[in-house]
Amino acid sequence: AAKGSGRSTYRFYQTEMRLEAERRHQLTVELREALQNDEFELYYQPIIRLDNDGLSGFEALIRWRHPERGLIAPMEFIPVAEETGMIVPIGEWVLREACRTAARWPSDLKIAVNLSVYQFRHTGLLATIVSVLDETGLRPERLEIEITESVLLSEVEQSLQLLRALKELGIRIAIDDFGTGYSSLSYLRSFAFDKIKLDRSFVAGIETDPGNLAIVRAVVGIASGFNAMTLAEGIETEEQLGKLRAEGYSEVQGFLLGRPMPRQDAEALIFGEKRPVKRVSSL
Ligand code: C2E
Ligand code: MG
Ligand code: MG
Ligand code: MG
Repeated sequence: AAKGSGRSTYRFYQTEMRLEAERRHQLTVELREALQNDEFELYYQPIIRLDNDGLSGFEALIRWRHPERGLIAPMEFIPVAEETGMIVPIGEWVLREACRTAARWPSDLKIAVNLSVYQFRHTGLLATIVSVLDETGLRPERLEIEITESVLLSEVEQSLQLLRALKELGIRIAIDDFGTGYSSLSYLRSFAFDKIKLDRSFVAGIETDPGNLAIVRAVVGIASGFNAMTLAEGIETEEQLGKLRAEGYSEVQGFLLGRPMPRQDAEALIFGEKRPVKRVSSL
């Protein structure tokens, strides 16, 4: 009996592994086709600077316009893209599209692009960024790379070298979703980041939980010690905006100030009569 069950367990795993391999293969094919068929789109969410309530720039956020399933959010396919390695060509497409778009905008506007930890493990990243900047003519100072703490956890030396090389080019580095990773604070000393983006979970609780206010404050202290800027994500209410302004945050982003929008809408904001500067300054 023991022998029999062992054999069926083995067969079970074999089947599982085959199904898993097939699933990955299927998803890889789908993502590759999506890229070839131009089904990815970038949405742009405004980032507002609180020193003059003007537009600082936009964060580029990917969407998949699936022919049958409609608009798909990044959390539904980025993890799969990471798993299958498709994040590398997709990430390159994002970078090129975002830089090409921002190059047409007024030169005081920045573009923030999210990079996955898997892109950092891929050796071609630096060369890709250099050639995209070259092709699009975007000044490196206008590009902000958003990384999460996880980038600094894996293959630390290689990641740090890459970040230093990006900094030398003049590109800015922001730490995204700050406060939600596993890492210790010690990594902050090892490279010159330009901005901390406080995760929106801390902003969401600011009205009710005094612990969140303590964290919101501590982050300003950490950032100022490193001469870095602070951005608060996920601002949804006037009250949150008022609190983060009072705490001295440099920038804000959230549904209250603008949802992620298609390029045409972002450009209507930039070039149109109603720049959000006016709307925001009345807040
Ligand atoms: P993220 O980089 O932290 O981006 C901010 C996310 O918060 C966006 O979700 C945005 O729509 C959402 N958000 C902004 N303001 C508010 C608010 O006031 N309230 C709430 N509830 N949410 C708000 P989105 O676009 O679904 O993106 C989710 C995540 O997917 C991003 O988080 C980022 O980690 C990843 N992602 C998006 N685009 C890319 C990309 O091009 N490459 C990579 N590697 N990751 C991406
Ligand atoms: Mg981001
Ligand atoms: Mg974020
Ligand atoms: Mg986030």
